[in-house]
Amino acid sequence: MWRCCGWQAKGGNKYAKEVMQSWANAEWFTAKPKVAEKITTTVFFVKGETNTDDLSPAPDAWSRPDIPLHGLAMLKIAREGIVPDKDGEVGPIKQIEKLKSKGFPLAYVGDVVGTGSSRKSATNSILWFMGDDIPYVPNKRTGGVCLGSKIAPIFFNTMEDAGALPIELDVSKMNTGDVIDIYPYEGVCKNHETGAVLCKFALKTQVLFDEVQAGGRIPLIIGRGLTTKARKSLGLEASSVFRLPTAASKDKPAGYTLAQKMVGKACGVEGVMPGTYCEPAMTTVGSQDTTGPMTRDELKDLACLGFSADLVMQSFCHTAAYPKPVDVVTHATLPDFIRNRGGVSLRPGDGIIHSWLNRMLLPDTVGTGGDSHTRFPIGISFPAGSGLVAFAGATGVMPLDMPESVLVRFTGKMQPGITLRDLVHAIPYQAIQMGLLTVAKAGKKNIFSGRILEIEGLSHLKCEQAFELSDASAERSAAGCTIKLDKEPIAEYLKSNITMLKWMIAEGYGDKRTLERRIASMEGWLAKPVLMQADPKASYAATIEIDLNKITEPILCAPNDPDDARLLSSVQGDKIDEIFIGSCMTNVGHFRAAGKLLEKYPGQLPTRLWIAPPTKMDAALLTEEGYYATFGKVGARLEMPGCSLCMGNQARVGDKTTVVSTSTRNFPNRLGKGANVYLASAELAAIASILGKLPTPKEYLEYAKKLDATAADTYRYMNFDQMASYQKIADKIEISAEARKAAQKLHG
Ligand code: SF4
Repeated sequence: MWRCCGWQAKGGNKYAKEVMQSWANAEWFTAKPKVAEKITTTVFFVKGETNTDDLSPAPDAWSRPDIPLHGLAMLKIAREGIVPDKDGEVGPIKQIEKLKSKGFPLAYVGDVVGTGSSRKSATNSILWFMGDDIPYVPNKRTGGVCLGSKIAPIFFNTMEDAGALPIELDVSKMNTGDVIDIYPYEGVCKNHETGAVLCKFALKTQVLFDEVQAGGRIPLIIGRGLTTKARKSLGLEASSVFRLPTAASKDKPAGYTLAQKMVGKACGVEGVMPGTYCEPAMTTVGSQDTTGPMTRDELKDLACLGFSADLVMQSFCHTAAYPKPVDVVTHATLPDFIRNRGGVSLRPGDGIIHSWLNRMLLPDTVGTGGDSHTRFPIGISFPAGSGLVAFAGATGVMPLDMPESVLVRFTGKMQPGITLRDLVHAIPYQAIQMGLLTVAKAGKKNIFSGRILEIEGLSHLKCEQAFELSDASAERSAAGCTIKLDKEPIAEYLKSNITMLKWMIAEGYGDKRTLERRIASMEGWLAKPVLMQADPKASYAATIEIDLNKITEPILCAPNDPDDARLLSSVQGDKIDEIFIGSCMTNVGHFRAAGKLLEKYPGQLPTRLWIAPPTKMDAALLTEEGYYATFGKVGARLEMPGCSLCMGNQARVGDKTTVVSTSTRNFPNRLGKGANVYLASAELAAIASILGKLPTPKEYLEYAKKLDATAADTYRYMNFDQMASYQKIADKIEISAEARKAAQKLHG
């Protein structure tokens, strides 16, 4: 349509010319009101940390596409200063209305805001109460102000996408009900009545003004692009209407980090320095089912009929086990929506988004996903809200302000009984010791927040293991994560994944062409296996060294904060009621380890043990190897492969129970109402299920010794190319010449 308008204008069509001129003049933008010099607003203060589960509770995930209905669940659980209309069911609507009666819009203010997931529904809920109507668009709002001492980076971006004005500033002099004047251009906040200065601040970028004026970052990017095209078509020089992102220094740096090189490659340059605005190509994009319907709606808004990203994958892991009627409709309709646009759709019951998507990745490429744990073990991903995910899928690129990096370097030798999960927790533990991370929310320090976590020193890890580390970078509020791996584990993983993708084609998964293209790209990498490396002189915001020789007992994250990393000896003996072994943090080895610890247990466990393997292939293998029989014998509750308890929207642990979980995060109320959740390894979790308490380090090591003896058998991973039942089927699949050609063109 755009080209057609250009031709018509060039051909002399008066109306087409007017349309082109209007776009060239950026009237779509200039006609909208600028951000006011002074914004008067009433403070709605939420003390401590607001995570996205507080704003968009998982049990209400089914109503996310219905913004006004879903908004009723925002902050539905009582906390200091927040009085829900009906505790646990309806949020503080009356309190909000009362504050609004002061005559000003409300600003959402908190110490730490938006930690947790990438769910755009959290943004939508705030904007529903604190934003402005969008002309001719019902049940959706834009604008609004969000203030926080710390605003989680993905949440910040999602706010930008939605047209809100997020500002990081000192909130210590603000209280609920205060009326304040925000002077965004001056960077100062004052008391409305007295004029006293409350704090000064600097916006993250001046481009925020344009984003708010345009109705969001995505409308701005698209509109700015069309204005540029219109001006080019009319032979005009570049528009000066917009504030452009400030470029980082043009001097060539002494070296690039691994992430900077990966993003550079996706932008067609050698590297991208922190602070540079860029639009890296999105090679792989993931979408899960509680945000999927919102992503679908955003794709419709973008008029996307075909994905430009090379591979877009949709999963059903968050709702398959206990679907609500609305989920059943999604299960029936979303697969076709995705496949018809060239994406790959999984099926309900297949398992967790990441356990599948990771197996579709290409080394040193960039992607994103509508799930905050989209954290590739090879390559890098920058998780995002559903709007940005739709944008990335539709256009094949994503706007990115390149973050700084923090280097985590492991040295030394892993000690007996220590698991990879302990190393995951060693990262916040060490950061706390170094004063780079604090657990308290007021004045919180977090060196990882908004930065890229770059991990070195464990290059021998299998990709499945590496994902445990990258997955947990979400809990650090990191923007992304890279892991330096050797070629061998990556080649092993890709060979296995080629078999799996061929098996998928044979099983009728689609879009077939996309799967074929990805197989061809993987084969291309295997034929010429080259991996990027960080330059020795690359610089980092901080370097955290972790000596494996010094980690001699398990590290857990105490209730209910994934940053609260503690040694087992400091929490030993705590009584445990329930145990969850599952989530994307687990792989088949964890279940074998648990099975081996449980197999000699006589009778039924004194605790409730939940088992949920990440994929149906894991479940099938564990059944074949007899582990399901062991789990059944001790009275474990066996759940459908998928997110299970981790997401908190399906089955739940008992109210106020104490739990050991292998899941990703232990935010308050996520696994169960009032539950106290320790995060720990599957091995420690299994031991707690037997003892009904957290063991002492000595007790733990006694059990761990038993596992050491059979480690080679226990920690085997899913190498599909070595499993006859998959390889035999895969052997029948031929990759078309067309797919090979397309892969060659894309990835060289
Ligand atoms: S298992 Fe948990 S963290 Fe992983 S994708 Fe599912 S809900 Fe998210």
